[in-house]
Amino acid sequence: MSQSNTNSSGPAAASAGVPLVDLRPQHWSLQSKIIVALREVFATSAFVLGPNVGAFETEMAAFLGVNHAIGVASGTDALTLSLMALGISPGDEVLVPSFTYTATAAGVCHMGATPVFVDSLPGGFNMDPADAERRITPRTRAIIPVHLYGEAVPMGDLLALAKAHNLRVVEDVAQAAGAKWQGKRLGSLGDTGCFSFYPTKNLAACGDAGMVAANDEGLARRIRLLRTQADASVLGGKKYYHPTVGFNSRLDEIQAAILRVKLPHLDAWNRARCSHAEAYREQFKDTGLVLPAASRDGSHVYCLYTIRGADRDALRAHLRRQGIGTDTYYPLPLHLQEAYAYLGYKPGDLPVCEQLAKEVLSIPIYPDLTPEQIAVVTGAILEFLGERDRLVIQETAS
Ligand SMILES: *Cc1c(COP(=O)(O)O)cnc(C)c1O
Repeated sequence: MSQSNTNSSGPAAASAGVPLVDLRPQHWSLQSKIIVALREVFATSAFVLGPNVGAFETEMAAFLGVNHAIGVASGTDALTLSLMALGISPGDEVLVPSFTYTATAAGVCHMGATPVFVDSLPGGFNMDPADAERRITPRTRAIIPVHLYGEAVPMGDLLALAKAHNLRVVEDVAQAAGAKWQGKRLGSLGDTGCFSFYPTKNLAACGDAGMVAANDEGLARRIRLLRTQADASVLGGKKYYHPTVGFNSRLDEIQAAILRVKLPHLDAWNRARCSHAEAYREQFKDTGLVLPAASRDGSHVYCLYTIRGADRDALRAHLRRQGIGTDTYYPLPLHLQEAYAYLGYKPGDLPVCEQLAKEVLSIPIYPDLTPEQIAVVTGAILEFLGERDRLVIQETAS
């Protein structure tokens, strides 16, 4: 997710438009704690795999309810290391939704395996399990459910499908940190759960960072080995002896120190996102806009608030004129990207997500969004829809 829409003016900028995401309020409020944490990092100067990485791994494992959490350099690497540790190799096929960020499929390609793109569920954004099932072949080894925008994939159907066809499950939880499915944290349900702590995600570092969650001990050990050049010393062997070829992909100690300050706030931040989503829902009901699903017991954490049903490009231009940040996640599904042209997909092959790509528009959402900012955004959108009067009535009624 690009930060290009981040407004760079000061704290009083709310009246001058609304950025798509504003990372500053969170850092104003946590600044003194973060500085104390960073001073401790400099005091020990243990910059790689120091005490904060280990402590954050323990804290995240407890938060997620998993046996193991392994800090890595990015969400992309979390996916790649998961697939490698699961033994995905050339000739294997991996089911991947087409309507996602390119990183979801990249790791599959880096293993020399083939991504098999799956359409979205009509009426939603996430992968259609029935379409996934149709695309299973004798070569299919794994499936990567993506909890897009922060909304839980219905994991019951997906895990049943995986079990029936003996597929490994690698959850892409990059946009859904803290979200739950039937009381369990996302990322704890698959063979691995892959997190990104990119600055615009719900749990965000101040740079690139990621994590793999896993319950299986052997799998966790392989991921630990792979993130440090597969150095045998990681598993108690001799240093500079390498049983296989690995990566250099460790979670940075400075980022871990910052993430430890933030993790205790994640649930409250996600609740704030949910309440903003409810405020939008209240304003937009009966307007003809198609709104994101409601959050049931934490099933949606609104990393992004994505609407459709209006003339997207005209609405976007209207909002831009009023200084309101928006973005399109994503304008072209993966099966039609140049990067994957070698797979031979054609327009029309995955019609649901091709239509979504033409319609989706994400509007501002982040924990520190104020009621005034929500009123600015909803006012501008209702004005565009010719429904400005509704807003005024509701404002005076409240
Ligand atoms: C952000 C993101 C990733 C990649 O995470 P990075 O930390 O940027 O490498 C993967 N999948 C999805 C769905 C994402 O949104």
